[in-house]
Amino acid sequence: MNADVTTAPLFNRIALIGFGLIGGSIARGARAQGLVGEIVTTARSEKTRTRVAELGIVDKVVATNVEAVKDADLIILCIPVGACGPVAAEIAAHLKPGAIISDVGSVKGAVARDMAPHLPGGVHFVPAHPVAGTEHSGPDSGFAELFINRWCILTPPEGTDPAATERLRAFWAALGAKVEIMTPDHHDLVLAITSHLPHLIAYTIVGTADELAQVTESEVIKFSAGGFRDFTRIAASDPTMWRDVFLANKEAVLEMLGTFNEDLSKLTRAIRRGDGEALFDHFTRTRAIRRGIVETGQDSAAPDFGRPHANLKKPG
Ligand code: NAP
Repeated sequence: MNADVTTAPLFNRIALIGFGLIGGSIARGARAQGLVGEIVTTARSEKTRTRVAELGIVDKVVATNVEAVKDADLIILCIPVGACGPVAAEIAAHLKPGAIISDVGSVKGAVARDMAPHLPGGVHFVPAHPVAGTEHSGPDSGFAELFINRWCILTPPEGTDPAATERLRAFWAALGAKVEIMTPDHHDLVLAITSHLPHLIAYTIVGTADELAQVTESEVIKFSAGGFRDFTRIAASDPTMWRDVFLANKEAVLEMLGTFNEDLSKLTRAIRRGDGEALFDHFTRTRAIRRGIVETGQDSAAPDFGRPHANLKKPG
């Protein structure tokens, strides 16, 4: 993204409710690209609001969700999935007619079901999920480039004004994202396997190793470069966010977990029977998937995720 290139503002005033990794990245990107006239934001705690004001990225930090949405043309809830319904109920009566209301939640079906009943006619509800993130959270964790070349999925309910969807698509595209539209149920199934299950596995394996660590003392940490540490990055993700994701996407996650357990049993059997061919074939298939991710620009081709390696010292 080039901070020198400015586009005409797409929205006069946007309200970001929640200013963590995602809200903070939207604010920084929108500012850098000149996408909005004014950014108003709020967060739940005084501590975060004070920090956001210090950062000086947004035009106004206000104390309540109701104040934040006043006169806003685009409102984005950047808060945990479980908080979206109650916040929608709180702000509904204060939304400007014709405004677009959206969110960034990692689950779409439950969020739409929780928010939609509260929203008045005359505002446009276009839920969104930017499929981009890091394991960090809070007001300092965001950065303007987070969404570049990542997908942002929009799940407008049936009957949504196409012009509203198009405006939100243009906003995300200007933040650098590639935008796709799908139904909430399809989104939740796809994300269950690509994001939610990997997080569950990481949380499980790191927890299991932690219990083993009681026996092996510090060896789990010491030898973590053998693979374990790559799981710890994912397992360091925000506990509130991920609690809400699993509660909200229960059905799809349980369905994918069923398939995963069957596949794990097949690999377990191959190991028990010494079936090297089955193991080799499986690992060959998965290696090709990694290649596909790199080829489509969704990850770096650098070995070991581009971690720096120290130079060998000359002996003596
Ligand atoms: P985060 O860094 O923890 O920030 C969450 C923000 O929400 C904080 O500013 C928090 O305020 C605020 N908040 C929480 N409850 C609130 C409420 N009831 N009313 C107003 N503000 C409230 O979280 P994040 O990573 O940005 O995630 C936000 C959303 O993005 C989640 O729905 C998540 O599913 C989705 N998402 C996350 C990622 C990711 O990788 N992290 C990727 C894509 C989508 P305080 O700081 O005052 O508590």
